[in-house]
Amino acid sequence: MSIAAHSAKDAAHTPADRPRSLIGLDRSELAAELAAVGVPDRALRMRANQLWHWIYHRGATDFAAMTTISKDLRALLAQHFTLDRPEITRALESSDGTRKWLLKFSDGQEAESVHIPEEDRGALCVSSQVGCTLNCTFCHTGTQRLVRNLGPAEIVSQVLVARDALAEWPSPQEGRLLSNIVMMGMGEPLYNYDNVAKALSIVMDPEGIALSRRRITLSTAGVVPMIERCGEELAVNLAISLHAVRDGLRDEIVPINRKYPIAELLDACRRYPSSSNARRITFEYVMLKDVNDSPAEARELVRLLKGIPAKVNLIPFNPWPGAPFERSPRKSIAAFARIVNDAGYSSPVRVPRGEDIMAACGQLKSDSVRLTAREQKALSNTSAGAESLEYKA
Ligand code: SAH
Repeated sequence: MSIAAHSAKDAAHTPADRPRSLIGLDRSELAAELAAVGVPDRALRMRANQLWHWIYHRGATDFAAMTTISKDLRALLAQHFTLDRPEITRALESSDGTRKWLLKFSDGQEAESVHIPEEDRGALCVSSQVGCTLNCTFCHTGTQRLVRNLGPAEIVSQVLVARDALAEWPSPQEGRLLSNIVMMGMGEPLYNYDNVAKALSIVMDPEGIALSRRRITLSTAGVVPMIERCGEELAVNLAISLHAVRDGLRDEIVPINRKYPIAELLDACRRYPSSSNARRITFEYVMLKDVNDSPAEARELVRLLKGIPAKVNLIPFNPWPGAPFERSPRKSIAAFARIVNDAGYSSPVRVPRGEDIMAACGQLKSDSVRLTAREQKALSNTSAGAESLEYKA
């Protein structure tokens, strides 16, 4: 192809001509898009509300389905806009029903989300970034080389894709398969606060997906200055990835601790506006053999949490190829849990889910960096699967 032919082709597909996605816009941005294609001012609010209903309550992916909107306007919308989801490059289902989707965004970058079904509910674990800058030493995502923030549309799309796959449109009042959202996928949500906040307000909007803030949990490794803002503006449930009770160790395994040490982090938790007995803060604690799992550490944890309405989520370490840690033995986890429990804190041991599809906590890592054959073999040789059955029993 000649250079001239090439540029003529490119000119025919300038970004301005390409249908623009309406996903991830707030109502006023939606109205502005409509105004730009000639919808009269007096109709903007109503039209934006109709679109909102079709996109987020009914899950429409096609303007033709929007029967409350005139045919002419539907045709105009289809000409300028799209409701396409990101490409699903891989969809996996675990033997325990956990499902994982690898999504590819328009620049080719990928991120994962995971649906964890339970008897009468189900949580979607949503990613906030491609990769992560935190480098927690036990976390697989931290080994990924590429990092960028996800935009509001890319975050909301994870929910739309899951609802499509679960065939859960229109948004049901109750009995939902996707009843909860946990911002516990790839990335640090408080390093991408604005986009996460925008996406979550779309998800919480009562005329759309309508998930209550009580059913949304944001997990952070401890970006202290953003915790207060998150509480004031979003008031979602808070989870803290604590993982160590002394600064020396936490500096090593959760390096953001060097910037925001444990005492400052816990002060921010004490000030978290929605923390009350009804809405306790969750402290996540990954159980690493001979690293952070001693009874003395459990007692220190109890001491640290004093005065904070808290529950403790003990997460048996999920191994990944080349990880420099091992999972604590069941006995140590049980002894640790007992000490925390006896002090009055609920301390469930999290059952690893979806391990056969690399969907368990901390195993998310997009295929931007593929596993080598050797790594895959190493993983299939771990005993994690068998152990998870024991935990379930
Ligand atoms: N950056 C946020 C969101 C990630 S959430 C945060 O740190 O909270 C993912 C949760 O899984 C965190 O609690 C994380 O510490 C934990 N995790 C990471 N790798 C893990 C692993 N290999 N095994 C068990 N839990 C892990």
